[in-house]
Amino acid sequence: MLFGKKPGYDPDYDLKLEESLAKNEYPEEKLAAARAAEHTSLCAQVCTPEVWAKYKDIVSSGPAKWTLARAINTGVMYPDSFVGCHAGDRESYDDFRDFFYPVIEKYHTGFSMEKGSPLQGAPSERMDPSRITVDLCDSAKEKIASTRIRVARNLSMFPLNPGGSRESREEVANLMAKVYARIPLDSDLAGEFYLHTKISDTERQALIDDHFLFRGKDRMQAASGYHEHWPHGRGVYLNKAKTFINWVNEGDHLRIISMEMGGDVKAVFERLSAGAKAIEEGVKAITGVDEVFMMHPKFGAVTCCPSNIGTGMRGSVHIMVPKLIETIGFEAIDRLCRERNCQARGTTGEHSEVLDRIDVSNWRRIGLPEYELVEDMIRCANFLAGEEDKI
Ligand code: ADP
Ligand code: MG
Repeated sequence: MLFGKKPGYDPDYDLKLEESLAKNEYPEEKLAAARAAEHTSLCAQVCTPEVWAKYKDIVSSGPAKWTLARAINTGVMYPDSFVGCHAGDRESYDDFRDFFYPVIEKYHTGFSMEKGSPLQGAPSERMDPSRITVDLCDSAKEKIASTRIRVARNLSMFPLNPGGSRESREEVANLMAKVYARIPLDSDLAGEFYLHTKISDTERQALIDDHFLFRGKDRMQAASGYHEHWPHGRGVYLNKAKTFINWVNEGDHLRIISMEMGGDVKAVFERLSAGAKAIEEGVKAITGVDEVFMMHPKFGAVTCCPSNIGTGMRGSVHIMVPKLIETIGFEAIDRLCRERNCQARGTTGEHSEVLDRIDVSNWRRIGLPEYELVEDMIRCANFLAGEEDKI
């Protein structure tokens, strides 16, 4: 039982609905200002008065009874967000289609909701490391501090977390504890599951500092409802070598992660593939449910944020390019990455500063098998290494 202060929590990060949204009124001023700004979030671009009027009084047909006001809160509160909207259950994507479909198509350029592009082939084929046909060049290898590939997954028997409750989050964590207990002790994936309610703030912070754990305390995530009922149901699974990691209930129910120091991308991908399979089989065995991961017939994996749907995969390297950072800066590096279907993030993840290393990852997540997305990332890392060497 926890008394007093919740671990690692600050009430500044409670879920607050923006003023007009709290009254279920169209946030005219905020969205108009967001649209006039140089950068406009996808939420602000798509949520016109017509779209709002169409959906303001309906709730999703799924377990969350999601509303458009909840869905767009992040984008309305934070004009600097990139996507700015979230789903509360699988049904939200179709029930609010005139909102979510254009958001999806704007993020995943080239993807059409009408045509759709479900995941093609078995995971063992899509995530087969031997299909990766490009390698990191020597110069890139020298500059890479670490490699991490993750897939976002949600369990089909629960609402997505923004639309969930303390109980649904705890049920997810209880189920996952059983799944982890089934992993054979002699397997490389074997390890321990730590709940946020059981570890100290110091232990949690150490895991965050080592890039093994989500930070919490993110204003945009708070606005989407990710931090509600903190710390209940949150946890992290770590194998002994801390190379196979699962985040439980950060936002998505699961982030299945493979990571290690250095640039052995294929080894990281191979472990991810084996780990994702073990998790899927474990949930299946315990629940008896056939399709355990929440899937959509048009795009594949369903995630809280439209940016992650599809494969849910983000493969990244932490690359040291100090001269490039010094001469052209982060924004220009990000632009170069985006021209190559990739993106740049700061040293401690999304919405963070660049300290010494840049996180370079695939931008596309949909319509392509996972191994091709890894190839995007490898090519971009090679390109950046080359640019660094020219200076
Ligand atoms: P995600 O897309 O998985 O949500 P975030 O941008 O939120 O990723 O970052 C999560 C954590 O993973 C951060 O601590 C970040 O520094 C770490 N991380 C991302 N890529 C790498 C990498 N290649 N090596 C080590 N840590 C990484
Ligand atoms: Mg994140």
